[in-house]
Amino acid sequence: MKFFLKNIFFVFCCFTFFSCGKETVSRTEFLIGTFCTIKIPKSKSADFILDECFEKIKTLEYIFSANDFNSELSKLNEVAFKKPTEVSNELLDLIILAKKIAEKTDGAFEPAIGNLVKLWGIGFENENLPSEVKIKKAIEDLSYKNILIDGNKISFTNENIKIDLGAIAKGHITDLIVKLLKEKKVESASINLGGNIYVLGKKFFTDDNWRIGLRKPYEDLNSYELVLSVNNTSVVTSGIYERYFEKDGTKYHHILDSKTGYPVRNNLVSVSVVCESSAYADALATAFLVMGYEKSIHFIKNFSEKKIDAVFIFSDNSYKTTNKSLLVK
Ligand code: FAD
Ligand code: MG
Repeated sequence: MKFFLKNIFFVFCCFTFFSCGKETVSRTEFLIGTFCTIKIPKSKSADFILDECFEKIKTLEYIFSANDFNSELSKLNEVAFKKPTEVSNELLDLIILAKKIAEKTDGAFEPAIGNLVKLWGIGFENENLPSEVKIKKAIEDLSYKNILIDGNKISFTNENIKIDLGAIAKGHITDLIVKLLKEKKVESASINLGGNIYVLGKKFFTDDNWRIGLRKPYEDLNSYELVLSVNNTSVVTSGIYERYFEKDGTKYHHILDSKTGYPVRNNLVSVSVVCESSAYADALATAFLVMGYEKSIHFIKNFSEKKIDAVFIFSDNSYKTTNKSLLVK
């Protein structure tokens, strides 16, 4: 699957009728390199609320994107080695959070990975298998520790550091949309930013939990391996089966181990993380894929800051979860 659709403006609205006569309104737009869908109960202000949500996503994309040369992040990446650079509160907040999670995962989630991501270009027109020499160079001094924060100024200690927020920004944007919906007194909603899901409240017009299907790796979009029953939480999946290219019979996917410079290889195919913070769920899903099953379980057991659950799907199609009670199938 390729993601060259950035400039195609895609809007899709629909209404769903429930048997009780209540309706929801749903809107989908192609943003942040993926399809973003938000669904809320129909009301007089529902369309305005959706307008605001999508405006917010567009504004945040323009700040966090590592793919848009004009974004605030791209401009920071150009100059932060040369001089400490002032950033917006939005960018500062996310870089602080990214650094914090990088520290906790010992760099499995590595926001300073931008140069390596660009070198591989996976999912973009220039995707390629780089030479060993180039990979070695790209991982030299690659560490979140080399991103320095002083007040609202960011600097990098070496030229190789470029920030990439691709593994956390969708989650963070989701959290900000949830905050906005709560401010607008929306009591139930589903948000899906390219598989980065948050379900607010109970399922529309019921007292039931939401059901979220986890896709069968390598199969079509409607083929569900497992179904989770949850509410007021985010479910984020990182997988190696969607964004990859093949060369000489080997698949190279987009989740990279910053210590080796290569796509991570272990027996995991996907990890889904359940957490009330979508930013944590996003970053940790990526980190757990890099860490592997045993290390991830150890991490979850010792992590007291947030309640984290996870579902791990392995290459032999078996799965393990930290919480069987979340599964309905
Ligand atoms: P995740 O596992 O959540 O993240 C993987 C991504 O994070 C990789 O693609 C890489 O960018 C980075 N990464 C890889 N390894 C690590 C690691 N060990 N630690 C930390 N980060 C790592 N895609 C397009 O095709 N075109 C676009 O214009 C575009 N614009 C975007 C703008 C924004 C603001 C965001 C958030 C994403 C955008 N994307 C775009 C998608 C982006 O390039 C990533 O591919 C996507 O975020 C990956 O998400 P994921 O859920 O598949 O995987
Ligand atoms: Mg992620």
